[in-house]
Amino acid sequence: MKSDEKKKTGIEAKSGLSRRDFIAGTGIAAVAGALATGALLPGKVEAVPPPKKWDRTTDVLIIGTGYSGLAAAIEAHDAGSKVTIIEKARIIGGNSAIASGIYNCAEPDVQAKYGIKDSPEQHYQQTLAAGDFRGDPEKVKYMTDNALAGRKWLEKQGVQFDEKPYTAVGALWARSFDPVNKGRGGAIIRALKAQVDKRKIPILMNVKLKALVRQKTLEGDIMGAVVTERGKDVYFKAQKGVILATGGFAADVAMRSKHDPRLTADVPTTNVSTATGESIVIAENEGADVQGMDFIQMLIACNYYTKKYGSLTNLGVDHALFVNLEGVRFVAEDQRRDVMAEAVLKQTKKVLLWVADEQCAKRFNPKMTEEIIKDNLAFRANTLEQLAKILNEKLQVPEKAFLESVAKYNESVKNGKDAQFGKKPENLKPVSVGPFYASPTQAGVHHTMGGVQTKGTTCQVMDRENKVIPRLYAAGEVTGGVHGTNRVGGNATVDCVVFGRNAGINAAREKAWG
Ligand SMILES: Cc1cc2nc3c(=O)[nH]c(=O)nc-3n(C[C@H](O)[C@H](O)[C@H](O)COP(=O)(O)OP(=O)(O)OC[C@H]3O[C@@H](n4cnc5c(N)ncnc54)[C@H](O)[C@@H]3O)c2cc1C
Repeated sequence: MKSDEKKKTGIEAKSGLSRRDFIAGTGIAAVAGALATGALLPGKVEAVPPPKKWDRTTDVLIIGTGYSGLAAAIEAHDAGSKVTIIEKARIIGGNSAIASGIYNCAEPDVQAKYGIKDSPEQHYQQTLAAGDFRGDPEKVKYMTDNALAGRKWLEKQGVQFDEKPYTAVGALWARSFDPVNKGRGGAIIRALKAQVDKRKIPILMNVKLKALVRQKTLEGDIMGAVVTERGKDVYFKAQKGVILATGGFAADVAMRSKHDPRLTADVPTTNVSTATGESIVIAENEGADVQGMDFIQMLIACNYYTKKYGSLTNLGVDHALFVNLEGVRFVAEDQRRDVMAEAVLKQTKKVLLWVADEQCAKRFNPKMTEEIIKDNLAFRANTLEQLAKILNEKLQVPEKAFLESVAKYNESVKNGKDAQFGKKPENLKPVSVGPFYASPTQAGVHHTMGGVQTKGTTCQVMDRENKVIPRLYAAGEVTGGVHGTNRVGGNATVDCVVFGRNAGINAAREKAWG
């Protein structure tokens, strides 16, 4: 401990507030407020009353530059509000920028061309069931009913999607659409950023939300925020409202392991390092309620060698099978994400090998595939026998067992029925066209389904007495209540776009108070 830290009183050290804060009175109010909520995180959160003088003014202050923040910004601006966005990182986009951008929606006419029957109602039913009916039916219905409109809106902003639907990992139905622009999730962010720039909406980079400002402790309107800019506190007046679009907390080991003790520091994550969830605690300090915080999703998408996002599982599961290091199949490849992750955690070294053929691998992003293979993080061979040899050399996978598993899988394809694990007939496709691929993969912490509670489909944040916190909105992964226990692959982009837009529209409708 540094000597100046040693000098702090007990309460100063606990709250992270300075002696000067206490003398000025801010600290006392802050700690009283925080202690009243029981949500004080030492050194992390300061609840702050309104200042005598604000440093900056806007109508709608948006925190975060992922899909939800940028969608909210465009809509709030187009509804006539002055909008400012802040972003704590040096680059925009959060998880959205590195994501695959897969977008689920029922588009029955297009799906019918590929022999797929679908409807928004089926999307709704499957989403609810996949989350063990813990998602809020009102939110899920709204999201699935508006999913296609959300994709069309993205197209209007300049994002192009592949016309052919498929079943993304954990998507459960062939209603996943891929952005075709380079970078996929990054392409969505680039398109939305171009729209934000066109509207001259300022994005203040390296600026972090530190606290919300409310009329009174746990009472009245949210009036703005205290943000940290170049080490200094800046009081931001938000005359219509503040929108939290700050993403999840998969990268915060303390927070995620508090809610799921298995998710300790040695468990990899697919997320960017800024997915740390402090804004949830900041909102809690203003009385916000949270829900589903222990619904945390693991995804089989981390590379076995790097422990980072970068497995070829991303390419799909139809012309593919999963085997363990014994070369044996152990789960249906089109199962729910949680079922697959739990199954992998039980295998030797917690590893699965995604094994697929060219029909799966050529689907998209050949550059990413080439890079992963070039770096020896996944393997390719012209024949299955050659692939078996490589896997034996690299990972001691028994060649005979491996080849038998592929043969047995292909036999199931011929019979049109996976008697072993029940992979759905529409996803049961052969692994038969070379070259063949294998990608050693582990499960990583991927998505936090819990977060602040919002009212119905309005995106207004609710407090612990079930009342709206006036002028505080939230959208995207920072919220709870949409995905239940298990998020369907490809549904998060929809959640962020549909509710991000709503948050922007509804915040813009507020009457400016200043
Ligand atoms: C590798 C990966 C691939 C994925 N692929 C898909 C997919 O294909 N389809 C799908 O549906 N879902 C996918 N997901 C999930 C989905 O992309 C995310 O849920 C979604 O991008 C979250 O968007 P968001 O706007 O809520 O938050 P984010 O995109 O994470 O943005 C939040 C932003 O807020 C900023 N921020 C946070 N706290 C503060 C603060 N205190 N002050 C200022 N700024 C702050 C962060 O720095 C960040 O830039 C994927 C996720 C990952 C990690």
